[in-house]
Amino acid sequence: MSGTLDALPPLREVIAAHALSARKALGQNFLLDLNLTAKIARRAGDLSACDVLEIGPGPGGLTRGLLSEGARHVVAIERDARCLPALAEISEAAPGRLTVIEGDALEVDPRPHLTPPVRIVANLPYNVGTELLVRWLTPPVWPPFWTSLTLMFQKEVAERIVAQPGSKTYGRLAILAQWRANPRIVLEIPARAFTPPPKVTSAVVHLERLDAPRYPADPAVLSRVVALAFGQRRKMLRASLKPLGPHLEDMLTAVGIAPTERAEQVSLEAWCALARKVAGETE
Ligand code: SAM
Repeated sequence: MSGTLDALPPLREVIAAHALSARKALGQNFLLDLNLTAKIARRAGDLSACDVLEIGPGPGGLTRGLLSEGARHVVAIERDARCLPALAEISEAAPGRLTVIEGDALEVDPRPHLTPPVRIVANLPYNVGTELLVRWLTPPVWPPFWTSLTLMFQKEVAERIVAQPGSKTYGRLAILAQWRANPRIVLEIPARAFTPPPKVTSAVVHLERLDAPRYPADPAVLSRVVALAFGQRRKMLRASLKPLGPHLEDMLTAVGIAPTERAEQVSLEAWCALARKVAGETE
């Protein structure tokens, strides 16, 4: 399957041939080791019966990994037009299996180009990655168009996504991710693996979506309650959640949360129970 892909030149040569000097403003830290990009692709699960949406392919290291690991079809969105000729060479080596869209992933809707099941895989600038993760986890209807996300983050952000109650990194991102998916850190990547190396260690997080949220709750109410609580995470909940109204302490007690607890001690299940209570549903 990867016969012609194997004949493509090493990424260092591709970068030199197309003068792809890394641009800081675009968060360009490239992965040039094809063994590593294939390993990341394998962490996304079985790709053979899936379309893969890749964001930010750059010179195409991860794209080559996804194709050589058997992705049925890759749709890649890249903002930097300088990368397009390098990506066109990959397209030629894998006929009919790579569609490249030039544009900003925050603006482009890739869904018309994708056939389910869809897995999303990306090594993106971290600010764009977090923004997209939140969007992918909060669509108007659930389940969303994707079945899994495999994304590179700063290790510190990856730890926030998988954090458990009681830990300092437990907060809105953990609740959002764990409510509707199973997130796991599947790979740590040292800074030296990138060209140029970033300042921090990175980690790949794999999230398999759940078909329904882990516990029922209205997304807008859950989001409001959690935002209030973690907005003042050092305060007791009876203070931080005061805007929820005069019955706050009764509602907390009714769902088994002590009003003197702090946000970081409360489990996902209890947040959802509180969101239901706030929404006026009977327990
Ligand atoms: N995937 C490549 C790799 O692993 O070597 C490149 C990774 S580099 C960290 C991030 C890539 O995302 C760059 O190619 C950059 O041009 C692209 N990018 C940055 N912002 C983007 C956006 N908003 N939409 C699409 N691509 C973007």
